[in-house]
Amino acid sequence: MRQKIAAGNWKMNKTFDDGISLVKDIVNGAETKPGTLVILGTPFIHLKEAVQATSYNDQVKIAAQNCHQETKGAYTGEISVEMLKSIGVEYVILGHSERREYFRESNERIAEKIKAVLAGGLKPIFCCGESLEIREEGWHVRYVKNQLKRGIFDLSEEDFKKVIIAYEPIWAIGTGVTASPDQAQEIHKEIRNAIAEQYNDSIANATSILYGGSVKPANAVELFSQADVDGGLVGGASLKAETFLPIIDALPAHIS
Ligand code: PEP
Repeated sequence: MRQKIAAGNWKMNKTFDDGISLVKDIVNGAETKPGTLVILGTPFIHLKEAVQATSYNDQVKIAAQNCHQETKGAYTGEISVEMLKSIGVEYVILGHSERREYFRESNERIAEKIKAVLAGGLKPIFCCGESLEIREEGWHVRYVKNQLKRGIFDLSEEDFKKVIIAYEPIWAIGTGVTASPDQAQEIHKEIRNAIAEQYNDSIANATSILYGGSVKPANAVELFSQADVDGGLVGGASLKAETFLPIIDALPAHIS
């Protein structure tokens, strides 16, 4: 069965000292249940120290929030998969709606980055999700399926098994508005069915599909108890131990 995951996305927040102190508060405070995983997506400056600070707990891992699709070269300001790997980072968040919108990352560019991450031996957290306009027009399922198709559905079975999916409706990110548990479950089920159609049932059942969009301690238990919601990708509430630790605690234990 699949892993239950609480992933934090710090975005562009925290000085070096504040960030490392938060990593330590989380790794020391987390009471990780069997079958659960915590992933902290920190800015680049924290990654190396964060990997070291969490190395004693194999249920806490570190993610970068982006990387470049090329292996090396004249790409000023960019970070390669090899560089991330060289400091022990294991995950990379890709396709976040903020990268898609503010940095004009297309489905094709995201697909290239996914492949680069997998080729380098790291694991991608692939984000997808629709805008409020698309949701209101009622074609969000089709839109998200198209993101899956163009972002990750041409991967080999072996590579696809390493992907974590995060469904993050843009209208719920950083807005305080959360998808209802039913809304989350509906689209997570659609995503899982699409994986089963593209690959097979056993791969679909083993894929962790996280919900993202204003997850907080008050709504995490109900969201995470939906059949096809395997945890969350959390922005704002991952910036404080007092709000992220209860979210970690909301993950159901899973014994395979
Ligand atoms: C995110 O940025 O991935 C996110 C879900 O943010 P928030 O939890 O703040 O809505």
